[in-house]
Amino acid sequence: MRYASLGSGSKGNATLVATDNGVVLVDCGFSVRETVRRLARLRCNPEDLDAILVTHEHSDHIRGVVPLARKYGLPVFMTAGTAKAVSSCRDVIAHEVNPHRSLSLAGFDIIPVAVPHDAREPVQYIFRAGGNSLGILTDLGCITPHVIDAYRECDGLLLEANHDVGMLANGPYPPSLKRRVGGRWGHLSNDQAAALLAALGPERIQSLVLAHISEKNNARELVSAAVAPHTAAVGNLTYACQAQGFPWQTLL
Ligand SMILES: [Zn+2]
Ligand SMILES: [Zn+2]
Repeated sequence: MRYASLGSGSKGNATLVATDNGVVLVDCGFSVRETVRRLARLRCNPEDLDAILVTHEHSDHIRGVVPLARKYGLPVFMTAGTAKAVSSCRDVIAHEVNPHRSLSLAGFDIIPVAVPHDAREPVQYIFRAGGNSLGILTDLGCITPHVIDAYRECDGLLLEANHDVGMLANGPYPPSLKRRVGGRWGHLSNDQAAALLAALGPERIQSLVLAHISEKNNARELVSAAVAPHTAAVGNLTYACQAQGFPWQTLL
């Protein structure tokens, strides 16, 4: 299994998960033209995609989903709550994701995991194929027992480290947005990401990507310092960014 990102952060997210048998795009927060350009950077065409899987309806995840699906005839998978929040799914083949049931898609077993985030029915996903397990986990305000249970087995993990608590407090956001981002239905701080790694037991993780890193309220050195106590045994540590995402990572 391998995975890569077209871009990661509050201005747009999209992640590719692939095997030799299938390619799934998780979220698409970019315009169609930008998505095609960024796919090409990863040597991928829209025609290669089997489906789009959606985590939730915030614009940094959904902006390009319906236009891309329409243009290339791609099926879209999302929870009923997310579908309700999407203004128009006309001419799109939409499938409902039940957050309590795994789905088989493009050769993957995919496990949705409900997360605390201020959207209608947000989920994150774990992909299984060929003996590997890849967890995608961004856009959650706090760590729940359900999340720890679900992600314990992952040997690849794309994990949110959204903000440094001090930078957010002293940064440019208005007070209401600071409360939202830092709250239990917002985003994971560096310290929360580190605590989650400690809870999961990072020895098993061969590939870790820290993602959805705020450009205004975080810095790579702060992410790195926060997770350092838990990443000594991690095979490959990568930082996703808004402009470039990250290149293909392979799980063996
Ligand atoms: Zn987001
Ligand atoms: Zn969100």
